[in-house]
Amino acid sequence: MWGDGTRCVQAGHFDAPAPGEPLAPGPVFAAPYHMAAEGPGRADFYGRNGNPTWRRLEAAIGDLDGGRCVLFPSGMAAVSTMLRTVLGPAGPGTVRSVVVLPSDGYYQVRRFAHAELVPGGVQVREVPTAGPWPDGVFDGAQLVLLETPSNPGLDVCDLVELSRRAHAAGALVAVDNTTASPLGQRPLELGADLVVASDSKALTGHSDLVLGHVTVSESEPQSSGLAERLVAARTMSGAVPGPFEAWLALRSLGTLDLRLARHAENARAVATALRSHPAVRAVRWPGLPDDPAFPVASVQMRRFGGVLRFELTSAAAVEQFVQASRLVVNATSFGGLHTTADRRAQWGDDVPGGFVRLSVGCEDSDDLLKDILAALDSLA
Ligand code: PLP
Repeated sequence: MWGDGTRCVQAGHFDAPAPGEPLAPGPVFAAPYHMAAEGPGRADFYGRNGNPTWRRLEAAIGDLDGGRCVLFPSGMAAVSTMLRTVLGPAGPGTVRSVVVLPSDGYYQVRRFAHAELVPGGVQVREVPTAGPWPDGVFDGAQLVLLETPSNPGLDVCDLVELSRRAHAAGALVAVDNTTASPLGQRPLELGADLVVASDSKALTGHSDLVLGHVTVSESEPQSSGLAERLVAARTMSGAVPGPFEAWLALRSLGTLDLRLARHAENARAVATALRSHPAVRAVRWPGLPDDPAFPVASVQMRRFGGVLRFELTSAAAVEQFVQASRLVVNATSFGGLHTTADRRAQWGDDVPGGFVRLSVGCEDSDDLLKDILAALDSLA
């Protein structure tokens, strides 16, 4: 088995080399295709149904996740299609199925569930990622969606243990792996049936595209046929990824290993420095040995990633910090080359006003540390 760097460089490059053809193929733009005659070998025929550039990216991500990948035009399209597909068609009035969601995960997922699933008779049970996960919490559930590390709190949950319990109760397990990325954590190897992710984040890492995917385990009998149902849902809904975004993503994937290595090195340095700064409290990064997440994270994660969180005294202090910094950009989203700060209370997350999710970028560690510490010193 190749190492992470080789796998990322090779990802999606599955054609035999052809002299005179580009080493890295460009995107394919097509609505209709010239069709082969009816019968076997009939290739693509219409752009909503299939596109060679999607397939290249799906093969690449599927290889990294260890399953069959279905690409979507955003992370939310991936999550919402997965939820609808697993939970089945809505029927008004009765409790038809039960889904367990993180109470502290990406807020739009809960909003979607309450706006779109609950009126159709789905019961939503919300549990914080760090637990407790009481006995019976999975009883009657069809699907358990876990998000670890959670966004924005960076708590983790034990995927092996929770997958075992959810399966014993007859539920499928999906893991939102956006924060970790497939090099940071491989949920399908830890017992999950499905991975969902926003590919707008570290996977692609340049803050220039919106995409998402679902990867289905091919070894779990419970999830058999699900990838085909997801493809059918994508084709019927018509919410399909753009070939240009898919191509950009594929191009970005080649450097994932390099980017994640720098993210983690910088995150460790910044988290350690923040902890001893008097203006800062409540620093969390799963890779800090005394972080509450560390005991589980250090077993199930392959890398800790570049996202950390901390608190300043107020919203005004956060604004002042970002303005004083030359390298930290005020932006939502995370996982990009640039270091970005997001004050999460502005989006309605249940966190204090001075809570910051910091996505540490790929700048030089020394430059970043000096810049962040100087900006914090200016708050005094
Ligand atoms: N899941 C998580 C954990 C996220 O953080 C996000 C977006 O921030 C999403 C899903 C949704 O992804 P997208 O913004 O690509 O729709």
